[in-house]
This record gives sequence, C-alpha cells and structure tokens, in this order.
Amino acid sequence: MKIIMLGAPGAGKGTQAKQISAKYSIPHISTGDIFRANIKNGTELGKKAKTYMDQGALVPDELTCDLVMDRIQQDDCKNGFVLDGFPRTIPQAEALDEALKKVNQSMDYAIDVDVPDENIVKRMGGRRACLSCGATYHIQFNPTKVEGVCDACGSKTVLRDDDKPETVKKRLTVYHDQTQPLINFYDNKGILKTVDGTQDLNKVFEDIVAILGE
Ligand SMILES: [Zn+2]
Repeated sequence: MKIIMLGAPGAGKGTQAKQISAKYSIPHISTGDIFRANIKNGTELGKKAKTYMDQGALVPDELTCDLVMDRIQQDDCKNGFVLDGFPRTIPQAEALDEALKKVNQSMDYAIDVDVPDENIVKRMGGRRACLSCGATYHIQFNPTKVEGVCDACGSKTVLRDDDKPETVKKRLTVYHDQTQPLINFYDNKGILKTVDGTQDLNKVFEDIVAILGE
C-alpha cells in the first residue's frame, strides 16, 4: 500500500500519517527524517543534501527524489509506506513518478486531508508551546491545567511566531501556489481520495480506514 498524504500545513496530515503507519505496519516517511538520517550516516546523498542546507538553499527536486527513492526501496517498505511532505510540487511529483516507473511501481493512493484556510488559521492560533521544555498544547483541544502555564515544567506557554495568523496565511499562500496543483495531478491519475479534515481526528482516521480497507 503506497500512500501520499496531501493537505495544507496544519490540516493534520502528519497525525493521520502516523496512525496509518501504525495500523497498517508501513513506515511513515517524511523528507525531514530522510535528510537527517542520511546526513547523520554520512551517505553520499546526505553529503550532497548537506551542502545545500548549509548554504540555506533548498535541496533540488532531483536530489530529494533520489533520497526518497533510496528510502522507499529499503526492506521495511516492501509492503508499502506513507509519504508525508513529499512531493510538494508538480516537478517533484513528476520526478517521483518517473523514478517509480523505472522500478515498475506506482503510488496507490493520494489522500487529501481537506481543511478550509480559515479553519486552519483558527486552529493554529489556538496552539501554545512551552519554550523551556518543548511541550505543546491547544487552548481548545488540549489546554493546560492552568491557563498560560506549562503542565510539565511550570514555565509560561506562548503562541509561537510560526503559529501566528500572518505566518500561517503566508504558508497557506505558498501551499495554494505550489502544492494544491497536486490534487488535480493525482485526481487525473485516478488515485485521489479526499477526506473531510475538519472532523474529529478519530473520525478523519475512520474515513481513511474506510478508503484503505481494514
Ligand atoms: Zn514546559
């Protein structure tokens, strides 16, 4: 079962990917993890990626795709995998497609966790983080026992810059420009499945299981 997760930043696709990974015993693969693992292990691909990252530059699509292909051909991926955060753009999706074709493979599902922008802005605005110990909360869904105070360490909790409405809106603009076209791309391939990401997390996962099968 080879799955791509689609959805805006903050739509909750990472959470769903983790649950899919656990239920179907397939690895949850994010490009961040792949980069870190390759750099840590000093692989050739990792060294190449690091030269870009050290300069604060984006890792080129082709190299990212090589890293992903290298990862998904490892033993633990033989029953499938769930990709989270890649592909992000049409050129990346095309590169992935080509690379898979060479090994006679193709993706099975692209699952779009659909959440309207205003919903995401509101959701992210409710996040709170403790800068001392890294604990995260949400004023509505996972509040601290005492407002504004970290349960774990007693420090003050804050709304991170990353979660502020103006930052979230900027990221959503990038998403609509670069990533949303993937929805059509995978729809044209006949593998797009859309779930309503505004629902309770467990209900979203139930809908995904209904698509993938028990
Ligand atoms: Zn804390």
